[in-house]
Formats: sequence, structure tokens, C-alpha cells
Amino acid sequence: MGFSSALQSRAAHEALIVRQDAELRLMETMKRSIQMKAKCDKEYAISLTAVAQQGLKIDRADEMQGSLISKSWRSYMDELDQQAKQFKLNAEQLEVVCDKLTHLSQDKRKARKAYQEEHAKIAARLNHLTDEVVRKKSEYQKHLEGYKALRTRFEENYIKAPSRSGRKLDDVRDKYQKACRKLHLTHNEYVLSITEAIEVEKDFRNVLLPGLLEHQQSVQESFILLWRNILQEAVQYGDLTADKYKEIQKRIDTLIGSINPTEEYGEFTEKYKTSPTTPLLFQFDETLIQDIPGKLQSSTLTVDNLTVDWLRNRLQELEGAVRDCQEKQLKMIEHVNGGSPVANGSIISNGSNTSNGIQSNKDSLCRQSKDLNALRCQEKQKQKLVDMIKCALNEVGCEELPSGCDDDLTLEQNFIENGYNNEQQQRSNSTSSPGLGIMNELMRRGGVLTLLRGRGRHFKRKSTPQPATPMTRSRQGRFNKLQPRSQSLGSLSISLSTNRPLYEEEWFHGVLPREEVVRLLNNDGDFLVRETIRNEESQIVLSVCWNGHKHFIVQTTSEGNFRFEGPPFASIQELIMHQYHSELPVTVKSGSILRRPVCRERWELSNDDVVLLERIGRGNFGDVYKAKLKSTKLDVAVKTCRMTLPDEQKRKFLQEGRILKQYDHPNIVKLIGICVQKQPIMIVMELVLGGSLLTYLRKNSNGLTTRQQMGMCRDAAAGMRYLESKNCIHRDLAARNCLVDLEHSVKISDFGMSREEEEYIVSDGMKQIPVKWTAPEALNFGKYTSLCDVWSYGILMWEIFSKGDTPYSGMTNSRARERIDTGYRMPTPKSTPEEMYRLMLQCWAADAESRPHFDEIYNVVDALILRLDNSH
Ligand code: ADP
Repeated sequence: MGFSSALQSRAAHEALIVRQDAELRLMETMKRSIQMKAKCDKEYAISLTAVAQQGLKIDRADEMQGSLISKSWRSYMDELDQQAKQFKLNAEQLEVVCDKLTHLSQDKRKARKAYQEEHAKIAARLNHLTDEVVRKKSEYQKHLEGYKALRTRFEENYIKAPSRSGRKLDDVRDKYQKACRKLHLTHNEYVLSITEAIEVEKDFRNVLLPGLLEHQQSVQESFILLWRNILQEAVQYGDLTADKYKEIQKRIDTLIGSINPTEEYGEFTEKYKTSPTTPLLFQFDETLIQDIPGKLQSSTLTVDNLTVDWLRNRLQELEGAVRDCQEKQLKMIEHVNGGSPVANGSIISNGSNTSNGIQSNKDSLCRQSKDLNALRCQEKQKQKLVDMIKCALNEVGCEELPSGCDDDLTLEQNFIENGYNNEQQQRSNSTSSPGLGIMNELMRRGGVLTLLRGRGRHFKRKSTPQPATPMTRSRQGRFNKLQPRSQSLGSLSISLSTNRPLYEEEWFHGVLPREEVVRLLNNDGDFLVRETIRNEESQIVLSVCWNGHKHFIVQTTSEGNFRFEGPPFASIQELIMHQYHSELPVTVKSGSILRRPVCRERWELSNDDVVLLERIGRGNFGDVYKAKLKSTKLDVAVKTCRMTLPDEQKRKFLQEGRILKQYDHPNIVKLIGICVQKQPIMIVMELVLGGSLLTYLRKNSNGLTTRQQMGMCRDAAAGMRYLESKNCIHRDLAARNCLVDLEHSVKISDFGMSREEEEYIVSDGMKQIPVKWTAPEALNFGKYTSLCDVWSYGILMWEIFSKGDTPYSGMTNSRARERIDTGYRMPTPKSTPEEMYRLMLQCWAADAESRPHFDEIYNVVDALILRLDNSH
């Protein structure tokens, strides 16, 4: 419905005028507001420029050179300045808009006036005619009355006049006729004015008023259109989401996004890099003891009757401190795994309800792992002292404490107390350095131990055997009666002969680690003899099970004979035989009696049985050789351990053998034996002809089929499934640590880091961790389970399908670690079956519990291979 039909009434007309007045007032208000906004924006622009200038007053000195954060900030401030300029520009445009509104308001005022005048004009004509009709009507009435009166007079005169003539009658008639004419004329005027009024009124209503209203509507609507356009312009200049601002914002976002913590200090580190500081050297000052003959040795704990109690107390204290550290670590780990807050009460926010929750979570993990490392260091430091004291106490043996005042007397005292003959006593009066004594003796007798001396120097053995002494011969028979300890040794005859080297004795176990020795001695009276290296000197130790485990160092007299508390003997074999036959305690205090010699186990091979042929690899501890066993003619692989490595490392080296000897599976490399009789100690294993899987993959990258790659994955899964069932965590599963035989069959190898535990928490440093193969929970919290091996298995799969590529290539370890923590996973290698890649991703689930176990992995791979085989 338009104005023309709806707004014809007078009231509507007045309302329309009022409406236009209101619109004019609204325009005024808007104008004032827009003016104010323009002013505000201008002021804001000025303030923003000041902000940018303030922000740019930063240190441009060298210290921040290359810093991404400083560069981004500067660019951000520049962008703010740009933003300020844009604001100013827009404010100026708003002022133009204001002017437009002023003009519009003036035009509108004029249009309202024109409407009012036009309406009045057309209404005036109708009003005038209306008045005319009224006036004509009253004239009509007036003439009608005059006419009626004259007519009455005429009729009266006419009736009364007999002749119907006369002057008077004529006069009356004349007047009557005039009145009659007047009436008729008035009548006609009246009729005409009514007719005109009808016409004018009709036109007013049907043509003129609607026309005016229609025109007015169109005028008002076009004002609204202009008005709207002006408003649109005004809004547009205040639109903060406009492209210009968006572009600025986008640039700011990109700048801030380009801040990269791992690159931030690149240039800085490059500029200030220095070679690592030389370690501080703490060295025992030898001059301190040069005047104290024999008692105190540099860098060595002195264990004697004066110090033993103090050492034991100290040991207790330190062990307590180690336990303390361990408990704290456990608490921390529990906390990380969802337990209670850490012991020191520092509640670490999980950050989940903060806007930068992920970051704060990461920070707190970082802090925990730092604290954990600090505790591990503390534990390691204390443990080192514990080990040192324990080692000192153990090596001396609880029962054979030298006197702190005069050690020459101690041995003598023992002899006297035990009633041994004077001749022997005299021989022992001038005891020389025990270690050297053994060495001299062994060398003199064609002793066979290759003894480690300082800085890798070693002595060669002579091969001339010594004739047996009369005592030896007389007791040989009894020694022969000894029964071997285990069934496997049942056929071995334990015999004594001084004309064969000590290392050939079945009960001599060479440098077998102490843990192994303890494992072998189970019943009271079980004993064996072994070699240990202390302070770079070889010592022969008798280990006995007697109310626990006791270790006695064989003492050497100045004449080069061997003894405990009893008489000295010319050979170690004779000394041991004497202890065995006499059934006398090795030391009075210990009461330990030798009952059963424990012979070497099946896998304790003789070093001389191994002939090294050619070097086939290089391991962490030494070279790996292809070799032949003389006894069986079997081709084997032999890992050797460098002689110069410290004891601790040698123990670690043998750890692999200790673990491997229990396993028997086609996909686990087989242990044949260990050689610990003398240096270099060796691990003998089945020879796997294809060598390392990694080298194999790289060399054969062109010839490998998907089927073969899947087969390799299945083999590895089978081996790992077996290990998982044995609670063995490998901890270093990777292509470089797998071997491949000629049928592409894969065998898991390199058990140097393995642990036989369901869960293993690393408490020493994480120096040699293969970061790119290790699961996040192990890296962050040192927590290892078989599910960590599953993660590494995923990387192994990736290596197999990428044919020996390096994982996360182009990334440093720390970058890879950081990206993994934020959810990054390697893309699928080319031509990997989709299901295999899916399996890799499952192995790399952040939550260890969501990863599949090895039996599931094996089943999946096996089923996929079956499907592949059937499809061909
Ligand atoms: P380590 O455990 O000391 O690091 P590895 O087990 O990695 O030593 O062995 C080093 C290299 O020696 C391997 O990469 C492989 O080439 C070779 N190797 C090791 N064991 C065998 C074996 N049983 N058969 C064949 N080659 C082997």
C-alpha cells in the first residue's frame, strides 16, 4: 500500500509532515555522532602511532642480532604504525561522509517544504469552491424568500384587481417578474457551482492528491536510498574487518608465527660458540703419600681394621641417600603418570584449562624431566661412592682385613694363630706387593693370564709348564674325586696339575663378572676361582658360598708363593687343593670351607678355541669378527671387547651375553658362548651371513619386493613377540641392530641395552639414547616397557619400507623430539601398503597403552602377508 491511497486524510498529511521533521532531527543526530567518531578515530590513530614509536624504542644493539623474536616485534610495531595510518585515513573519509549527510539534510528540508506548499495549493481550490457552494446556496435562499414574497403580493393584487390591469398591478407584476428572474439566475449559479465543486472535489481526491502523495513517496524513498548509501560509507570506514586491516593482521600473524624457539638462538650460538670447556681435573696428589710406604695408595680407598667401620657407616649413609633419590624419582614418575603431586609440594598445573595449556603442559613436563635428571645425577654420584666403597670392602673380603698399623705383621699373626710352620712364616715376613707377586708367579710358571696393566700394556704368557711338586702329586688323587657341580659337567674330570696353566682348570672362570659368579655359587661350600682387575692389576680371587658369598684375594709372598691365612704354596692350584683337602676354613673368621668346585658353564668357552678370521663389523665395545671354533669347526661371529675399556664397560659388554644365553628363537641371534678366561673378552654368536639389516636395505634397495619387506617386518615382530613373552625390553630396536641372513630372514641382535624387567626406569644419564627410535615416555621420564619397543618397531618398519632411509631426515634429535611431542608423525614411505603404514601409526600412539602388543602386530602382518600370497 502506497502513500497515494493510504495517506489521503488530513491527519495522515499532518503525520507525514511530523515524520519528515523527525527524520531531519535523526539526520542531525547522526551527523553529530559521525563527526565525533571521526574525531575519536583520529585521536586513536595518533595514540597508536605513539604506541608503535614506543615499541620501536628497543635495543637494536648486537646482543639481539639474529633474534627472530626481536625482528618480529619490530615488524609488528611497523604494522601497528600502518594500522594507525589507515585509521587516520578512514577518519578523514568519515568527515567527508558527514558533509554528504549535511547536504542531504538540507535537500530533505526543501523537499518537505515543497510538499507542504503543493498540498496547500491543491487543497485551497477545493476549499474555495466549497465556500462558493455555501455562499451560492445562501444567496439562493435569500432570493427564494424575496421571490416568494413578491409572488404572494402579485397574486393578491391580481385577484383583487377586477380588470386584471392597472398601474399598481403592473408594478407588482414587474417586481414579481424581476424577483423571478433573479431566483432563476441564482438557481443556475448554484447548480453550476455545485457541479464545479463536484468536479474539483473528484479531481482533488482522485488525481491531484494521489499524484502529490505518490510523488512525495518517491521523493522520500530516494532520500532514504541516499541516506543508506551515506550510512554504508560511514560504516565501511569504521570496519575493522576490512581487507586492509585483515592484511595487516595477517602479516602480524605470520610474523609472530615465524618465531621459532629452536632457531631463535641459532645466530647467537654461532657467534658466541666456543669449544667445550676443558673438564676440571681432580687428581690425587701423589706427593702426599710418597713417604708412607705401601699403606696408602693414590685414588684408592684404604680398607684396614682402622677404617672398616667408618667405611661401613659411610656406606650405609650413602646407600640411604641413594634410596632417598630413588624414592623421590619414583614419586615424581607416579605424579607424571597421574599419581599424587610431587613430594616437595610444588603442584604442577596440568594447564588443561589455560589458553596456552599445551605449552604449559610441555613446560611442566620439561621441568619434571629436568628435576628428574637432577635426581638421577645425584643418585649416580652417590651410587658411584657406594660402588667404590663396596668394591673396596668386597675385594679385600670381610675376613682378611689388613692391619692399618703394620700390615707385615698381620699375615704373620694369622700364621701363628693357625699354627703353621716357622719356615713358611719366615718366607712371608717380607711380603711384597700382592698384585705384582701374582703376575711374577704367573709369568714364571707360564701363567696364562694376560694381565691388564696401566694404559693397555699387557704381559704375554710363557708356555713352558712347571713340573708338579711332590705335594701336588700326593694330593692329586683326592682332587680327582671331586664331582662336577652340574649335569652338563658330569663328564669333566676335575684334576689338578701344576703343569697346566690355571686358565685350563675347569673351576677357573677368568674375568667372569661378579654377578655371574654369585649366580653360580648356590650351596654352602660351592667355590670357584676367578680373576679380577683392581687398580689396573690382576688379582686372583677365591669365591665361596658360605653364609652368603665371600671373596678372598689370593695373597702373594715375597718369594712368589700363594696363600690365604695358611701356609704358602708354589701354585694357586696347590693352594686351592690344600684348602679343599684339609677342609680347613679359608680364614678363621669366615669359617668358609671348600666343598664343591663349580666348573665353567657350557657357554664359558676357552679363548684359545676361537680363531679370528676377518673383521666384519665394528661395535660399541670393539670389533666384530668372523671366526671359527677350533673344537667344532663351526663358523661364528665374535664380538670382542677392547682391552683398554674400564671394568664397568666390560661388565656392560658381557651383559648382552648374559641376556642372550637364555633365548632360543629363530628370529633372535643365538649365543654360542662367552670367552672370559683372558683378554680380550669375547662374545661368540651364530654367524648371520647378510650382516646388518640397515646396510642390507641400503645395498639392496632396488631388488627388494614388498613381500620381502613385509616378511622382514613379520620376522622382527616374531622375535620381539618372543622377547616380550620373556619380559625382555630390548631398548635399542632399529634396523642397524638387526641382522639378516641369506633368506632375508631377520634376527634381532645387539642386546647391549636390554633389560629383563616388565618396566625399567632409567636412573643413570640418558646420554646414548637413540632419540629418533625411542618412545616419548622413555625420553621424557626414562620409563621403558615393551610398548616402548613397539614404538621403535614402528620406526624399524619405516626403515624397512624406506629401504634404509634415516628417520626424520633433516631434523636434529631435539627437533624431531619436539615435533613428535606436538603430534607430528613421519609420512608413509613410498609404496608402503596402506595397512602397514596404519600399523606404524598405531605403534607411534602417544599413549603407550593404545599401542598394539607384539603378538597383535605379528598377527596383523602375518594376515596381510597371507592375503598378499593368496592374491598372487
Ligand atoms: P655393538 O652391539 O657392540 O654395537 P653390533 O651388534 O651393532 O655391535 O655389531 C656391529 C656390526 O657387526 C653389525 O652391524 C654387523 O654388521 C656385525 N655383526 C654383529 N653381529 C653379527 C652376527 N652375529 N653375524 C654377522 N654379523 C654380525
